[in-house]
Amino acid sequence: VDPADSLVHALRRAVTEAPDRTFLTYFDGRLSYRDVDLLSDSVAGHLAARGLERGDRVAVLLQNSPHFVLAVLGAWKAGAVVVPVNPMYKSAEAGHVLRDGGVTALICSERAWEAYLREAAADSPVRIALTASELDFQTRHDTRVLGFEPLPRAADADDLVSVARHGHPAPEDRDPGPADIALISYTSGTSGTPKGATNTHGNIMYNAERQRTGLALPDAPVYFAMAPLFHITGMVCQFGACLNSAGTLVLAHRFEAGVVLEAFAAHRPHYTVGPSTAFMALAAHPSVTPDHFSSFRIISSGGAPLPPALVEKFRAGFGPYIRNGYGLTECTAPCAAVPPGREAPVDPGSGTLAVGVPGPDTVVRIVDDQGAELPFGEQGEIVVRGPQVVPGYWRRPDATAETFPGGELRTGDIGFMDTEGWLYVVDRKKDMINASGFKVWPREVEDVLYTHPAVREAAVVGVPDGYRGETVKAYISLRPGAEADPDALAAYCKERLAAYKYPRQVEVLPDLPKTASGKILRRELRSRSRESQ
Ligand code: ATP
Repeated sequence: VDPADSLVHALRRAVTEAPDRTFLTYFDGRLSYRDVDLLSDSVAGHLAARGLERGDRVAVLLQNSPHFVLAVLGAWKAGAVVVPVNPMYKSAEAGHVLRDGGVTALICSERAWEAYLREAAADSPVRIALTASELDFQTRHDTRVLGFEPLPRAADADDLVSVARHGHPAPEDRDPGPADIALISYTSGTSGTPKGATNTHGNIMYNAERQRTGLALPDAPVYFAMAPLFHITGMVCQFGACLNSAGTLVLAHRFEAGVVLEAFAAHRPHYTVGPSTAFMALAAHPSVTPDHFSSFRIISSGGAPLPPALVEKFRAGFGPYIRNGYGLTECTAPCAAVPPGREAPVDPGSGTLAVGVPGPDTVVRIVDDQGAELPFGEQGEIVVRGPQVVPGYWRRPDATAETFPGGELRTGDIGFMDTEGWLYVVDRKKDMINASGFKVWPREVEDVLYTHPAVREAAVVGVPDGYRGETVKAYISLRPGAEADPDALAAYCKERLAAYKYPRQVEVLPDLPKTASGKILRRELRSRSRESQ
């Protein structure tokens, strides 16, 4: 198969090869490759007829659904740049993205439009709006894409599904090329105001192609979309990789462990990618059995630290190996992953699980504060150069120059490499805790907490301390039915870690705060700890 140079081409190729194959399933409904092609043509035709031009920005704010896929492919077929927006955003956050991105068309859920987006859009360049009714989660039937009557549309926005079913032809000569920007992906802002990384079609296809050739999945693979599609991992490793393999993408609105397990049973997926917190939630669900995972060839975890204890618990309890992968929005999802057929080693000194090896054509280096390369085994900042690294941030030359000096991505993560080429991520530079001058990396303490049978989720932060400067505090949530005394958990860590590392304080919460992409928000826990002081 010749590599496609954009996902629009990958769609055309799939339509030629297997028009009737199911591309999307969504609860009880399905759309074939031909369906998706025709429906997205019509969205593109509508956008062009409304004056959308090549390079214009189309924001898409939807959950994982066929609507999301039609919106993205329709925008690309119209030559536009897609700005995926977190559907959990509130008015001010969404407004920032609409203005900063110079967005002229918005495709969103009817609920969000009514609740706040109409207002946010009024104060932005948006002049075309399409809305879609979100799935009624109770009835689990999408009554509109999958063959029923359209609902009345909002007065000032057109209805996405009616537009898709209208049969407009796609505009001609709008196909994107590999150097064109496909996405402006706003970082989740765990490190400041969200900035838009400009992922090109070439960036996306490089990683989508690596997934097609590197995973050893069967022909016409079935993917389950665990990660949200608006996030780069979901966009590239699920939607992009699945489309590039002409596979079937099983969609389930948003992550809810019981619903996900039902979808596994019904659709028997071969592959999924998610944050480690999603696997923790599945493993803790009362109805989970090894059968739910029997169709999987492999599972990938990406975008957040993967505790080695979870990999072992998962394999012992359910069968599949969880493969680690490391990436950032700025390198279009993965830049290093565990190759098929191999298992990531654990560094004997720190207990850290390797994230993988860099992909072909990808150069990962470890550098010190002055940018000088460090030898194997030494910790420093991870920098990445490769075909998946974005050209920069949208309209932010200053931030681009700072983060991509000479085209190389400075990740802000601390890591090291071993002599066999395995990359290890220690933690984020800014999350380091300074306890009496000793460096404590939260990840190492969290990995120990995860080996405790009662612990479901763990996050470690530094809290101000008059004596030590900062002291280590652990927040945890427990597995269903488990009990654990905070002092006993602190003692458990004390037995396994150097004296300056173990948490002096442990607090149990029902759940830890997370981003929409499933990452535990240490930032929120830090402010919580300050408020309670
Ligand atoms: P922001 O960039 O605004 O802070 P974010 O953290 O959500 O937001 P992403 O691009 O989604 O941005 O996340 C990338 C970060 O996730 C990496 O820099 C790294 O810290 C972490 N990460 C990704 N994969 C792994 C992994 N396998 N192990 C440990 N950490 C990981």
